[in-house]
Amino acid sequence: MSGNLREIGGRKLRPESLMMSYGYDPRLSEGAVKCPIFQTSTFAFESAEAGKAFFELAYGLREQRSGEEMGLIYSRLNNPDLEILEGRLALWDEAEGCAVFASGMAAITTSLLAFLTPGDVLIHSEPLYGGSDHFIKHFLPRLGVIPVGFQAGVPMADLAADLTARVAGRPVAAVLLETPANPTNALVDIRGIADLAHGLSAPGRPAVVMVDNTFLGPVFQHPLQHGADLVIYSATKFIGGHSDIIAGAVSGSLATMLPVRTLRTFMGTMMSPWSGWLLLRSLETLKMRMTAAMKNARYVADFLAEHPKVQAVHYLGHLTEDSPMFDVYQRQCVAPGSMISFDVVGGEAAAFRFLNALSMVKLAVSLGGTESLAEHPGSMTHADVPPADQARMGFTPGLVRLSVGVEHYEDLIADLAQALGAA
Ligand SMILES: *Cc1c(COP(=O)(O)O)cnc(C)c1O
Repeated sequence: MSGNLREIGGRKLRPESLMMSYGYDPRLSEGAVKCPIFQTSTFAFESAEAGKAFFELAYGLREQRSGEEMGLIYSRLNNPDLEILEGRLALWDEAEGCAVFASGMAAITTSLLAFLTPGDVLIHSEPLYGGSDHFIKHFLPRLGVIPVGFQAGVPMADLAADLTARVAGRPVAAVLLETPANPTNALVDIRGIADLAHGLSAPGRPAVVMVDNTFLGPVFQHPLQHGADLVIYSATKFIGGHSDIIAGAVSGSLATMLPVRTLRTFMGTMMSPWSGWLLLRSLETLKMRMTAAMKNARYVADFLAEHPKVQAVHYLGHLTEDSPMFDVYQRQCVAPGSMISFDVVGGEAAAFRFLNALSMVKLAVSLGGTESLAEHPGSMTHADVPPADQARMGFTPGLVRLSVGVEHYEDLIADLAQALGAA
C-alpha cells in the first residue's frame, strides 16, 4: 500500500519526503491524491459484531489479535485525518505513537493529569510558557501535586543537591521541561534531569519526563533521543506555521502514550478534523519553513548583536565554547532555530518605542509563523511572573522577543533598524 511506504531499496526515507503521502491510501478515498476532510462525528459499523470488536479494543477488554486493526468509532476516539496526522508527526521524533489535541495547553494538561496523583512531586524548569506556569502553580496544587521548579541555564552540577533537598523524599512522578526556555533561550540538560528524577521516583513508578519542544521541534531537536519519555508541542506555532490554527500534539512510546490517549478520550481534548486537515497541509512545508526562518534568524541576530541600541542578544547560534550551555546545545540541538530575544537599551520605555515603530514585523504574541512577530515578555506573555522572579530568570525590562519568519532578511533588518532608530 503506497500509504505505508517508508523505504526504497533498503534506504529509509526522511520525514520531509513522507509528509505528502505517509499513512494515506488513495484507494480508500476514490483515488483522491490528497486526504479528504472526514468531517463526521461518527462512523457506520459494517456489522454489530464489528462494532462490538472495536469497542472491546477501545476499552481494552481484550488483547488486539495479530493483524487486527482498530476500527473507526467516533471522532472523540479516532478519525482518519487525525490518525494520518499522528502517524506523520511521529516520524519526526521517531516515536511509536502520537496523539493530537485541540491546543498546546490541552496536550500539556492532559499529559500531566495522566500521570500525577495527590502527594506527587512535579519537577519543572523555569521560565515556562505562561499557561503551563499558571496550571502548574495555581491548579495542580489543588489536586495535592507539589511543583518543584529550577532555573533553566544552570549547569546540572549546581542544581542536583538543591533539587534533591527540595523534593524532600517525596515521590517525583513527572518532569516538565522547556528547552530552550521562553523567552531567554536558556537550555536544560534533558538527560541530566531525567537521571536525577528517576533517582527520586517511587520504586516501580519512574518519573515520566516530558519536554515541551515547541521552540525547536520537531525539526531541530529530538528530546526522545536525549532521555525524554514524551515530547509535547503547541502545534499552533511552527507545525501549523501560518498563525491560523490552535492545536497541540504529544509523541512517545506506545506504552507511555496509552494513559495520555485514554485521558484524551474521556476529557475530549482531541483536535477537530478540520484543524487536523489544515495541519496535514502545513506538514508538507514544515522543514522548508523552519529552515528558511532559521537562516533569516542568523542574519537578524548578527545585525542585532552589532547595534548600539541593543545590549544583549539571546540566540542559540551565538553560544560560544566558554558558555556553560554550549555542551548541552551541541548534544541536544540540531540547529539554533529562529527565536531571538534581545535587550533594548533604555528599558521598558525604549522597548515599547521600538515595538510601536515596527512597520512590517507585527506586534503580537505567538511565534513560529511565516510572518515575523515581536512582543515584550515582561508585560505580555510573562506578565503573570512577578518582577523579582523575572529578574532571577534572566529577563530584563528592555527584553523583546522576536520570532523570525520567512520574509527576505534584508527587509526584516531594514524594519528592525528603523524601529531601533525610534527607540
Ligand atoms: C504557545 C505555547 C504553548 C501553548 O500552546 P497553545 O497552542 O497556545 O495552547 C505551550 N508551550 C509553548 C512553549 C508555547 O509557545
